[in-house]
Amino acid sequence: MNPRSIRFRLTAWYSAILAAALIAFGILGFFALKQSLFHAVDETLEDRVAGVKRFMEEQTASLSVREIRDEFREHSVLGPGGDLFQVCDATGVWLYRSAALENAGATIELPGQIGSGGVFTERVVAGALVRFYAKPVQVLGKAYTIQVASPVDELVEGMRSFQWTLVLAIPALLLAAAAGGWWLSHRALAPVDAITAAARSIEGKNLDRRLPVAATDDELQRLSTTLNQMLDRIEGAFERVRRFTADASHELRTPIALVRTSAELALRKPRSEQEYRDALQEILGEAERTTELLEDLLSLARADAGKASLELTNVDASEVLREAGVVGERLAEPKGLAFEMARLTPGLNVRANREAFRRLLLILMDNAVKYTPAGGKVNVEAKRVGGTLVVEVRDNGCGIRPEDAPHIFERFYRADASRNRDSGGVGLGLALAEWIATAHETAIQVETKEGEGSTFRFRLEVTEV
Ligand code: ADP
Repeated sequence: MNPRSIRFRLTAWYSAILAAALIAFGILGFFALKQSLFHAVDETLEDRVAGVKRFMEEQTASLSVREIRDEFREHSVLGPGGDLFQVCDATGVWLYRSAALENAGATIELPGQIGSGGVFTERVVAGALVRFYAKPVQVLGKAYTIQVASPVDELVEGMRSFQWTLVLAIPALLLAAAAGGWWLSHRALAPVDAITAAARSIEGKNLDRRLPVAATDDELQRLSTTLNQMLDRIEGAFERVRRFTADASHELRTPIALVRTSAELALRKPRSEQEYRDALQEILGEAERTTELLEDLLSLARADAGKASLELTNVDASEVLREAGVVGERLAEPKGLAFEMARLTPGLNVRANREAFRRLLLILMDNAVKYTPAGGKVNVEAKRVGGTLVVEVRDNGCGIRPEDAPHIFERFYRADASRNRDSGGVGLGLALAEWIATAHETAIQVETKEGEGSTFRFRLEVTEV
């Protein structure tokens, strides 16, 4: 039993509060019961004094003292406890004394010794506790004290047994409630243990496991659902990293294998200088391709690590477009494509990272050229719309199939896997382009129709300088 466990603390608090409530209830109940029982006895005593007084007023005028005594004796046997009363006058002469009180030698207060409201006293008479009520009265001009009594032994006994009931029942109730609370909190918290055990068993190699979700629509269900959603995200990220590493290794292996084969072939037998040159040229080409790939991978890895934040400054958009235009011409010409670059008035500044802006344009232009067959057309448009510069790279090439469109920004995704390696890169271009756009707080929109061409569009904020 761990005293720091929620289960223990819940039960302890619950029992402590219940104990305080039961004890308070017991004490209050005891005194309220006592008060009401004694109040009932006192009311009866007062009624009996009133009865005796009425009787005296009716009889005293006409009867002698002796006759009155006889009448009292007769009268006294009528009511319950009726034989316990005595009356004396102002000088202490007894008018009547019931036998039981006389035998017990019960004293009486004289009319002058007590207030007009009377007094209640408790005395032990013949071994039993008796409650007395003495009240001064005036009957036909003479002062008397009427004293009545009632045994309260049974009441006291009843109170005592009530007290014992409380003393025994409260701990028993508490014990039962604490046991019930312990069991209930065990039931309520059992799913937490199940969640803990399941969570403990989830590791890198079984990330597809999920925590149990009880259909209780309560806090614990929400907790497991939220943790499961978190696991979904972690699993997704894990899977992306795994795929990225696998794809990256695969893509690196191809050029290195080519370099190796070219070198081995060249060294197999003596060759002419031209043959050696060709082999070295091929090796150089593959080395360049590998460097490019490594740089792309490095940029993405830095972006993932959140370390590659781009510094944005005021950049003259017309200059960047002009420079990109030169590269675009060079890419389009060998394929026999018409290329057109927008011209902007110099001095139109945008908030951007110059190098990244250029890179973004090159990636989009490179793709447009790669995926447009000979005779097609690639053009870059740029126009200012309000506070933004809208840049569009259009082509009338093969377009993108609807089922590929949602994936083209994913790393290493290539729409047609069987495409000749020379016709495209490795599928990192658009992933980099998207990261650059995000770093510029913008996004790349794509409009495309299979067989008709594509338009890639992004916006940059114009800064007035
Ligand atoms: P890749 O190195 O294959 O060009 P990208 O990330 O740049 O990789 O592009 C991902 C995929 O998106 C490409 O393989 C291609 O299928 C598709 N794609 C990109 N740009 C175009 C375009 N202008 N026209 C048609 N398809 C495109």
